[in-house]
Amino acid sequence: MTKEDVENVHSARLLEDVHKTSTDQHSTEDHEQSQQPITDHHEEVNYHGRILENKNLRLLLSDSQVTNTIVTDYHTTNQVNVINGTGTLAFWNSTGDIGLFKLLQMHIHAPSEHTFNGKNYDLELHLVHRKFGTNILSVLALYYDVNEGGNKENEFIESLKLKEHNPQVALIPLQEQIEAVDVSKIIHYKGSLTTPPCTEGVNWIISPKPFHISEEQMEIINHHWKSDKTFANGNGNNRQVQALNDRVIYYHILDHALVNKIQVSLLAFVFLISYF
Ligand SMILES: [Zn+2]
Repeated sequence: MTKEDVENVHSARLLEDVHKTSTDQHSTEDHEQSQQPITDHHEEVNYHGRILENKNLRLLLSDSQVTNTIVTDYHTTNQVNVINGTGTLAFWNSTGDIGLFKLLQMHIHAPSEHTFNGKNYDLELHLVHRKFGTNILSVLALYYDVNEGGNKENEFIESLKLKEHNPQVALIPLQEQIEAVDVSKIIHYKGSLTTPPCTEGVNWIISPKPFHISEEQMEIINHHWKSDKTFANGNGNNRQVQALNDRVIYYHILDHALVNKIQVSLLAFVFLISYF
């Protein structure tokens, strides 16, 4: 990832997007940093934002698994509401403050909502987390792309049974997916909720390196939206890229990836501190 790549990460949907489980949540923190969403349009983005490297950014992901759940078809997305599950995210923001977040739900967009060098990836997964004891949200965005990530079946995506309608799933192997996230390259910016009156800041945390997915899997997913001309004129369920305006995008590239096991122990340690 180069600085150029980062510059080409445009902010996309600024969360109308936190579907069902979290539309009633309003954060009260970071008011001054929140930006109102920009009117949806199809023109090229006008970039006025600032892009800064920030060494304070750091992401840790804990053991995650989701059992006995339903992948619900909300028409605009397929979503797993995490009731029986674990999954925590620790995030150090640009000022070095740590926040601990619990996984609430995950859902998909195809094609991706964020673009990289002007290009959408095939699929974007949003893992929506809420900060413990607050209504502040963080969304971790992961990507899947047949060309950039490889044309190979993705077991995690397969577990979502997207071929079926509202399938019951015994186990979603989120852990393997989380372990594969390269936390040495992350991008962060503050977005906004677009559904009134939810206009407060949302932490976007982007892991830009796409995972593999097979053409067959993408065909099944695209059957829901992109291949359906009656849904958003066959444009998919992503939202058009939005202008950055004066927001700041931070990125951090570590010299080497932290070992996952170390992360997990660190996170456990942080939890002990925060709870006792
Ligand atoms: Zn989303």
